Parts: sequence; structure tokens; C-alpha cells
Amino acid sequence: MAKMISCLCGWTLISPQGNEDIKKHIQIHAKDYHPGLTETEDKVEKMIKTV
Ligand SMILES: [Zn+2]
Repeated sequence: MAKMISCLCGWTLISPQGNEDIKKHIQIHAKDYHPGLTETEDKVEKMIKTV
């Protein structure tokens, strides 16, 4: 099963590789698009959906 995350800005990522991969990409996205916004690991976990 793939994992999906949607950012508040509309950016969406689907990964078949699981939570660790999602977390890695959301951190990169946040750094590039939302500098100053800190996504804690706990918060990110809650944003991840199984698709
Ligand atoms: Zn975003």
C-alpha cells in the first residue's frame, strides 16, 4: 500500500515506499517552499494517509 501526504499549499506526494520516504520528502518540500515552518515528525505522521 502506498502512502500519501498533502501539504496545506496543495502539494501532494504519493510514495509506495512508506512513511520514512514520505517524511524525507515533506522535509525537503517544507525547506524549499515554507522556510521557517517547522513540521515536527509527530505532525507529519498525522498528515500521512494510506492510499
Ligand atoms: Zn507546501
